[in-house]
Amino acid sequence: MKLVRYGEAGMENPAVLVDGKIIDAESEFSNFDEGFFACDGMSALESWVEDGCPGGFEVDPDVRLGSPIARPSKIIGVGKNYAAHAREFGGDVPSEPVLFLKASSSFSGPFDDVVIPPGSTHLDYEVELAVVIGRTAKNVTEESASEYIAGYSVIADYSERQFQKHQGGQWTKGKSADTFTPMGPYLVSCDEIYDVDKLRIWTKVNTELRQNSWTGDMMFKVPYLVSYISKFMTLLPGDVICTGTPEGVGMAMSPPCYLQNGDRVDMGIENIGKISQHIVPETNIS
Ligand code: MG
Repeated sequence: MKLVRYGEAGMENPAVLVDGKIIDAESEFSNFDEGFFACDGMSALESWVEDGCPGGFEVDPDVRLGSPIARPSKIIGVGKNYAAHAREFGGDVPSEPVLFLKASSSFSGPFDDVVIPPGSTHLDYEVELAVVIGRTAKNVTEESASEYIAGYSVIADYSERQFQKHQGGQWTKGKSADTFTPMGPYLVSCDEIYDVDKLRIWTKVNTELRQNSWTGDMMFKVPYLVSYISKFMTLLPGDVICTGTPEGVGMAMSPPCYLQNGDRVDMGIENIGKISQHIVPETNIS
């Protein structure tokens, strides 16, 4: 299944992609949120689709898409999880996953503008595989971790490097501005991904290919990450894990090449989807 949400920001309707058409699901499901996942909404949605989506209707394909799930209780970032990116970022390749939190208020739709925050001079992009948690996970084993995953999506971990690296404290400062975490276009259920370790992952900036890698290059794989994170915090249904970005970020170019007003960023992951954002100043939100 591919879950989507559409409509005005903050007022999205749940829907599902069936034979390439967006079918509204609000007659049966209020939202794709923590409660939906906690009540095994994925199974209920699957049954509803198998029954022919009773009460559903086709939606205009040009409608705005929001994030495919409602704003989660938390967004957990994994830093330096691709060895080549860890080296370009500077410092050691980590021996354990580096974790940080992105403010959930940074969550946005897959094609929404990214707004340059006040004082920003070092805005950068990171494409990542998003893991969406399907049920409460606390101290789960690596072997059982897949039972706790609802599906996968494409997520952008936009980063303000000056805020992240040179203004003291943790990375959270540089990761949390509004619009810094677009996700989508779909939440793809696990059964549609044959092997999550064999997906091409890429970013283009103004059509120039900047990141071009494979999810198999992750040092810490998805089941390990779910298990590892669940030892430090309870993962709630609908929570999102950003699993790290491959090499090719703007910070590591020579000279560094940060995003500017007017840039277009396209990102994608094989078999999951593509997302795209326009970089705009704060005074020019469309
Ligand atoms: Mg990242």
